Amino acid sequence: MIKYISTRSNADSVTISEAVLKGLAPDGGLFIPEKIPAVNILYNNSYSKVASQVLAPYFEGDPLEADLAKICESAFDFPVPLHGGKAATLELYHGPTAAFKDFGARFLARAMEAILERQGRKVTILVATSGDTGSAVAAAFYGRKNIDVKVLFPKGLVSARQKKQLTCWGGNVQAYEVSGTFDDCQKMVKDAFMDKSLCEKFGLSSANSINLGRLLPQATYYAFASLKYYEETGEKPVIIVPSGNVGNCTAAYYAKIMGLPIEQVALAFNANKPIVDYLASGKYVPRHSIHTLANAMDVGAPSNIERLFALFTDCESFKANVEGWSVDDDTILKTIRETFETDNGYVICPHTACGERVRRDHFAGKPTIVAATAHPAKFDTIVEPVIGKPVEVPASLAELLAKKSDYRSTGTDYHEIF
Ligand SMILES: *Cc1c(COP(=O)(O)O)cnc(C)c1O
Repeated sequence: MIKYISTRSNADSVTISEAVLKGLAPDGGLFIPEKIPAVNILYNNSYSKVASQVLAPYFEGDPLEADLAKICESAFDFPVPLHGGKAATLELYHGPTAAFKDFGARFLARAMEAILERQGRKVTILVATSGDTGSAVAAAFYGRKNIDVKVLFPKGLVSARQKKQLTCWGGNVQAYEVSGTFDDCQKMVKDAFMDKSLCEKFGLSSANSINLGRLLPQATYYAFASLKYYEETGEKPVIIVPSGNVGNCTAAYYAKIMGLPIEQVALAFNANKPIVDYLASGKYVPRHSIHTLANAMDVGAPSNIERLFALFTDCESFKANVEGWSVDDDTILKTIRETFETDNGYVICPHTACGERVRRDHFAGKPTIVAATAHPAKFDTIVEPVIGKPVEVPASLAELLAKKSDYRSTGTDYHEIF
């Protein structure tokens, strides 16, 4: 049975159920598995079967073990295609909100529901969002039993499509438009969590991307894709991951260390590049974030860096395992155009373009899989002028955009939302 410890190792170890419910370790660190298990999994064309095999050792001995197969089946019920041949692209955007965060959020929502059902408890989840994360969480938790969700977003600072995706739910998911900035939204969430009596009364919990219940399920698509690639070509691919908070690439490292057929993991960043600088200088310096076209990767101080440092504990082993490059905005646009022109009109989003650039510049001719993190239709205002035609909106996203909006307006005092 695997125990879960904090990256700051000043807290007692917990079970996977506890790590999922708590989110953050009590010493402020992130939960990580005490060891990464080795697995021996054969390719299977059922995604959820591969996924539950990948996750099984992490849940062994936990009450959730019995629910794991069912959770995977229900969470991963959309296609996960691998586009192309030797230079493949893993389309992680066929879930309800058209980005890879659907995988983690949907798994977490079902895992939490199962734990709460067993314990006969209810929770209220608070999320502050500047756009995309909130919609994946809202979509994933919508209709889950014993869970209420409050989503806070800053007035006038999310795109029209993003706002639609945050406010189309109702039921157990209530959206709040805050007259303030994203930082104000985050502060409201922090203040609410500091309020002990409120926490107890509502069973406050978070579902942010540092929750291990979101990170571990992301290893499943690297397992599925690398097994499929290996089955079809007999070669182990380099996995290239467009990165911001570096959760997604950490999951790729987990899959590699578990023994899946992955040659190497390579990281692609936008202009926010503290890790690229660390690789060059040997000194890690977090920064303020810079605004770029790949805005879901606008992170100057990646929260999951503690998990990477826990895997590769000194500078030497970090450098031996982590390679990364930064891609600027002009090059993002150039790469969207180049891909469209050289790959039969294939359209990629600005985040995926960072990964595609890294492939073309550093791994040309090698077996590669670029993780396509979002559907290009989510970034229509950037992509359409470059390719000179409209991007078709996927059916699941169109369905959300057609729903009625419902939200409340609030100031920046957290009491107003309870
Ligand atoms: C969140 C996100 C990323 C960055 O993933 P991390 O796990 O934070 O590194 C990249 N692309 C898209 C579209 C995202 O939503």
